[in-house]
Amino acid sequence: MSDASPLGHPVYRDMPTTIFEHMSARAREAGAINLGQGFPEGPGPRDVLQAAADALLTRSSQYPPMPGLLELRTALATHYARHQQLDLSPQEVIVTSGATEALCASLLALVRPGDEVLMLAPLYDAYLPLVERAGGIPNIVTLTPPDWRITRDALAAAITPRTRILLMNNPVNPTGMVMRDEELALLADLCIAHDLIAICDEVWEETVYDGRPHRPLIGLPGMRDRTVKIGSAGKIFSVTGWKVGWMCAAPALATLLARAHQYLTFTTPPNLQWAVAEGLGWPEDWLADQRATYQASRDRLAAGLTQAGYAVLPGAATWFLSIDLPASGIALDDVSFCERIIDEAGVAAIPLSAFYPADPSTHLVRLCFAKTDATLDQAITRLAAFRATLG
Ligand code: PMP
Ligand code: GLN
Repeated sequence: MSDASPLGHPVYRDMPTTIFEHMSARAREAGAINLGQGFPEGPGPRDVLQAAADALLTRSSQYPPMPGLLELRTALATHYARHQQLDLSPQEVIVTSGATEALCASLLALVRPGDEVLMLAPLYDAYLPLVERAGGIPNIVTLTPPDWRITRDALAAAITPRTRILLMNNPVNPTGMVMRDEELALLADLCIAHDLIAICDEVWEETVYDGRPHRPLIGLPGMRDRTVKIGSAGKIFSVTGWKVGWMCAAPALATLLARAHQYLTFTTPPNLQWAVAEGLGWPEDWLADQRATYQASRDRLAAGLTQAGYAVLPGAATWFLSIDLPASGIALDDVSFCERIIDEAGVAAIPLSAFYPADPSTHLVRLCFAKTDATLDQAITRLAAFRATLG
């Protein structure tokens, strides 16, 4: 430790604690209703927990196979064939400890030092540090509210001969947007024209509302062999703490991904893998009912906040809605608003500026609606009272 150079890797040296951890800790201290970090209220669905409890008592707790239990890999291939018309084989599915590990493994396996990684902002907080730590150079296209539209011109202006990877998220956290068909087609065209590999984070695939389908990028013409599709049981089954995720890709890519995974976590708790495999086999109604519940919660929060004088942006997917502060007549930036409502209203939220590496939009605030009606109503009442104090 006598070396004069500063301790640690430059990517982490000056990095703050994540906005989610910060806001959840503040909410706990203040006793606030936590509509910040995205997680459903309560322990999780009873039948999902029962499946895990049964697996814990009746199945092995020793190391499962490195790429995941064959039963789960098969259940995922079947699920994606039924729900998204994909033709994945179980060998093309690698189980990971959460989507976060899948993102990390994909980037470690595929980014070569100096490769540019194209991303769209606002972006999920883990992307930038993972790309940089993998030796990639971030190349960011910033989208603007309220449409967040992806254009051919913006992509063409960003791409360079060193761009090798597209890292994207659809449906999108934090905006709650679902990419339009023409935007997905543009992204696929770009990948094919420039020989890019797409890492597509689709953890929100089962939270698309209003009867709309989820369209996986890997299903678009020309994308089957150049896309890594990432998912998470935490989102599909409303158990965010389980950290069971996966990455799906054609064999040449999947082999590389497995190489990275084997030296990150190597495996994921087998009992939770069994429970997820069981859940994926339940009748279609299970997921449809859950989706309908979340959709009703979205509508309840949107209606309540609108009634209270907040301008709510449309949200088509995820567990999140955004409010527009100036359009709500509030002259605070997003960070100040979030800090004030924790203490003054007893509600925690997330400033959207946290999802931008540079030049952030600072007038939008994200709220999580995956809560009971009583909690949402209470939060609405508190936010209405706070809004009234601002005049
Ligand atoms: N990607 C996105 C876009 C997310 O929103 C999240 C979690 N909210 C993750 C990845 C991480 O998923 P996991 O908890 O399965 O690691
Ligand atoms: N993905 C969750 C969110 O957007 C947070 C996960 C985390 O705290 N790392 O709220």
